[in-house]
Amino acid sequence: MSAELTERKHKLNMKDVLLWSQGEVPAPGPRRIGIHTSTAGGVERAAERAYRLGANTFQIFSSSPRQWKPYGLGKSQCLEMRRLRDKYGIAPLVIHTSYLVNLASATAEFHCKSVESFRGELQRALALCAEYLVLHPGSFRGRSREEGLELVARSIAEAAQGLELENSNLRILIENTAGAEFSLGGSFEQVAHLLEYLKPVCPVGACIDTCHTHVCGYDIVSEAGWQDTMRQLDQTVGLGNVLVWHCNDAKDQRGSRRDRHEHIGQGTIGLEPFRRLLNDERAEHAAFIAETPIDHARDDLRNIEALKSLVNVKQTSARKKRA
Ligand SMILES: [Zn+2]
Ligand SMILES: [Zn+2]
Repeated sequence: MSAELTERKHKLNMKDVLLWSQGEVPAPGPRRIGIHTSTAGGVERAAERAYRLGANTFQIFSSSPRQWKPYGLGKSQCLEMRRLRDKYGIAPLVIHTSYLVNLASATAEFHCKSVESFRGELQRALALCAEYLVLHPGSFRGRSREEGLELVARSIAEAAQGLELENSNLRILIENTAGAEFSLGGSFEQVAHLLEYLKPVCPVGACIDTCHTHVCGYDIVSEAGWQDTMRQLDQTVGLGNVLVWHCNDAKDQRGSRRDRHEHIGQGTIGLEPFRRLLNDERAEHAAFIAETPIDHARDDLRNIEALKSLVNVKQTSARKKRA
């Protein structure tokens, strides 16, 4: 390995919380706040990373997001994940489905691979006792939107056959997308529509991404826009059904349909919408998970702390006393 390569690898490694964290870990706050966490060295190590970052919830991939081959997952790893989560009080565990899966694909071979791969996602999520499996609903290119929605529902049913989802804690969460052409789930109505299709098939809910909502064109930045967007979300998906919020600032303008995540408070969304979200009683039951870039060591820590710092603690404890 060349000196330059060694250097680069070293820099990459130093972004890993397991390497830089020492001594006391930050305490978790009054909300479920976490971040998408690396599974390098084995899935169970993600729980340790989340804890060291002061997170009480986290998200992982259980397979490479851009390759069909799943990660190896042994029984001992699943047990260790369980043990660490119990020890640290970390829940929910959210798994994000591989980006390759498109359950609405019009290509027979690709569709078949997607169903098979999604079945693997479900099996691994069950083995890891994950609470949520987040799925991008896919692209209906080559079909009508209606056909696409029906196919996704049928494909999930096919993938879940014989897996006893009903008796597990696992829920499939449909995530809203940035609204690219042919994508299912670019609007709240489409997410709601898909949930209606899926309800008879398996336990479902929604994951709403702030960046996707913003670049898709919803106004979440102005106070009035925020209220209106939350009202629209409540009337379609239902705020009670939003079990995970992906908290990402955006690099691009509202309505741009470009999906590039930015650090909390440093993008075109800014801090205020996150403050409103984290202090909204109607979202208190949800988990808030950042999928922000890690450009430098501790960026993950900084984004978690940024979200935590927005929770109005006084208001929360006053409400708790009343309850
Ligand atoms: Zn997301
Ligand atoms: Zn995104």
